[in-house]
Amino acid sequence: MTDFHSIPTPGAPVAAPVAAPVDPADEYAMRLALDQAQNAWLVGEVPVGAVIMRAGQIIATGYNRPITTHDPTAHAEIVALRHAAQLLGNYRLPECELFVTLEPCAMCAMAMMHARIKRVVFAAHDPKTGVAGSVLDLFAQKQLNHHTALVGGVLAEPSSQLLRQFFAERREAARQRREAQRSAEQSDPLAAFRSAGVVSGVAIEVASPVANELPSAATFETDRLLTTGPAAPAPDTDIPVGEAEYLPVDTPDPPPTDPQP
Ligand code: ZN
Repeated sequence: MTDFHSIPTPGAPVAAPVAAPVDPADEYAMRLALDQAQNAWLVGEVPVGAVIMRAGQIIATGYNRPITTHDPTAHAEIVALRHAAQLLGNYRLPECELFVTLEPCAMCAMAMMHARIKRVVFAAHDPKTGVAGSVLDLFAQKQLNHHTALVGGVLAEPSSQLLRQFFAERREAARQRREAQRSAEQSDPLAAFRSAGVVSGVAIEVASPVANELPSAATFETDRLLTTGPAAPAPDTDIPVGEAEYLPVDTPDPPPTDPQP
């Protein structure tokens, strides 16, 4: 630990903070959690992963998937807790340790405490929603927590790197989409209306009974107004609001607002 109260002599080399040695068993489990975070990325979710161990044995895994499952509670930790509790046939998990690649939020922290998880190990800190010391420390509240020990910072850098790469990729994709949209609008004044679903220039499936009145083709090109309302956004065109909490403060392109009312 660096002693911040001591004043260094001018010109003297500044000692780097000494990181606490990491238990190899913790590192092994956190690498498994990082694999789970990669799974989240593969399905387009914010890459956070979790693993629950008992006596060195993997009990359950989970990765972040609130978007794909339409479930605001489907954080990696909750997914893993549900699997572990089902497997062990008990909502209390007092002999289990939970490893997660990002500091838990309040929902997950309380779920772990309700499950009487013995120990929680996390990797990267989350200054926006972390409640293991960043925003506040629920684990230090004796009224709430009598059972769960806490360790932070295990493999923090690879975990942070994964999140940074994910959001850099998302921002770049969003920038390219805006760029393509701008050039389309410049070359075709109706493009903005088409993207909003007001006018369609693409081949659309003709619904009955109109199809029956046509002599042959079931699809046709049309520029007429559609009556079916705005097109649903493509799954990867917007960054849902829930992900914005992980965006760095200095992000140059703020995420668009949630398209849902
Ligand atoms: Zn959470």
